[in-house]
Amino acid sequence: MTGRLAALIGSPVEHSLSPVIHRAAFDAAGVDWSYVAFDVAEGRGADALGAMRVLGIAGLSVTMPHKRDVADAVESLEPAARALKSVNTVSWDGDQLVGSSTDGAGFIASLAEEGIDVAGSRVVVIGAGGAARSVIDALGRAGSTDITVLNRTRRHAELAATLASAASVGIPSDVSRADIVVNATNVGMGADLAGATTDDLACDPELLRAGQVVVDLVYHPLRTPWLAAADALGAHTVDGLGMLIHQAALQQERWIGVRPDTRVMRAAAEAALADR
Ligand code: NAP
Repeated sequence: MTGRLAALIGSPVEHSLSPVIHRAAFDAAGVDWSYVAFDVAEGRGADALGAMRVLGIAGLSVTMPHKRDVADAVESLEPAARALKSVNTVSWDGDQLVGSSTDGAGFIASLAEEGIDVAGSRVVVIGAGGAARSVIDALGRAGSTDITVLNRTRRHAELAATLASAASVGIPSDVSRADIVVNATNVGMGADLAGATTDDLACDPELLRAGQVVVDLVYHPLRTPWLAAADALGAHTVDGLGMLIHQAALQQERWIGVRPDTRVMRAAAEAALADR
């Protein structure tokens, strides 16, 4: 092939929006880059890095189940990736492979795009899995002064709260006094707005209030029942596509050295979601 190649490794990868988003940005920038998705079996993430070296692949996106293995296999880690022991991006520094975790910075960038500055803010994060951990780490780095973690499994919340000195485990009523509330659980994924039940809601909407920033990291559907309820209360709602787009934009910055057009990336992702 001519040009340069970037790739996604994960399993499964067939429903990933990453190829659509990255290709749209490459096309808009007029660069000769291609992007492909490889389904790589669990435990073979380090082998995929070997392939990257042999084939001269210029950049890698990494998704589950390889984020931890790749963090162990690269030559160096950026600070967020080191703290999280998780890599979603591999890029080259000379002949060395560098691992980054751009999810958290992508989350902060998606809020900045909406005019929201997290510095000095009180934030409740619902969830304690990979997405929540990235968000908590990034909120700490960006200067949030009060980060409350709520999660179904308390032990996971306790572990996630160790990622930022401003973070602690809270109780549901903490939601009401937060400036920003984030759903970082799977709750609401695939939910049907018309037939939604309380099982589709990340927290009781009665805890939310007008003027709050309410963010749902779930992006399928784009408008979750929880986000719709927050909207109806007069909250400033932010959907999960912003984080997805901005973490991908930060990947391309590391690979190509220029910031891609995030509006083009979002339009491509919305079109792909509308087809599902
Ligand atoms: P994960 O590591 O599997 O974590 C899942 C989290 O959701 C855990 O905290 C889990 O609680 C909680 N959870 C799952 N089912 C639940 C239920 N029925 N009731 C209450 N809590 C429940 O997954 P992840 O990678 O963090 O992803 C979480 C969500 O974020 C997914 O919807 C994913 O699509 C989304 N996401 C979005 C972006 C983006 O760019 N917008 C990026 C990454 C992920 P326990 O600890 O109790 O199991």
